Amino acid sequence: MRSHIVLYFGKPGAGKGTRTQKLKERTFLLDDFMILSTGQMLRQAVADGTHLGQEAKAYMDKGELVPDHLIVSVVLDAIEKAAENQKSIILDGFPRNLPQAKALTDALNGKKIYVVDFPIADEIVIERTIHRRICPKCGNVSDDTHKTCNQCGTTLIQRSDDTEEVVKRRLDSYREDTEPVLDYLVKCPNVRLTRLYPTISLEEDPGMETFFRSLH
Ligand code: AMP
Repeated sequence: MRSHIVLYFGKPGAGKGTRTQKLKERTFLLDDFMILSTGQMLRQAVADGTHLGQEAKAYMDKGELVPDHLIVSVVLDAIEKAAENQKSIILDGFPRNLPQAKALTDALNGKKIYVVDFPIADEIVIERTIHRRICPKCGNVSDDTHKTCNQCGTTLIQRSDDTEEVVKRRLDSYREDTEPVLDYLVKCPNVRLTRLYPTISLEEDPGMETFFRSLH
């Protein structure tokens, strides 16, 4: 398999991470992929108290995008590292605005980009995210019907930005900053767009499976 670049788009709680995790658990299709969730990377930086985390925290708590200079070079370095190791890469959460998208397309210089969009209604997003719980140790995603992580037993927590007020601001940011990125990317000749609508069962996700199979 050649190394591929896949970009995920979708509102918070669209199921990007969970559907990827389920596919990874039941197939080999993602074995050659590095998965970089910029939100997860930033939450880890906050938890570790790194310089990046300290700078990013206030923006994240408000549901705003962190400044581009904190994120663009980290992501471009990760893409380079993946390519050096002949790995494909999924970017979940990047690019989130036009300057990030332009930095990415400039760096990729015409390389094929696979964009996967996960459309979902706002009401479902709000309902899902306020009930979402995550494992602070392994990142596993669950809901508030569970108290502990079913992978490692750690007590689940609620993300500080998964409150209704902050989720609404994150949805505004999605509409204002991120949707224009999709419009920009689909006009690029090297971009192929796939839309994956919500599935009834996370265990069976034929759209995800067909998409990743087509890359092999
Ligand atoms: P997510 O887990 O993707 O919902 O991201 C959580 C938060 O991390 C966002 O609300 C932003 O504050 C920040 N974030 C994640 N990715 C980016 C990005 N590409 N650019 C700027 N901020 C980001």
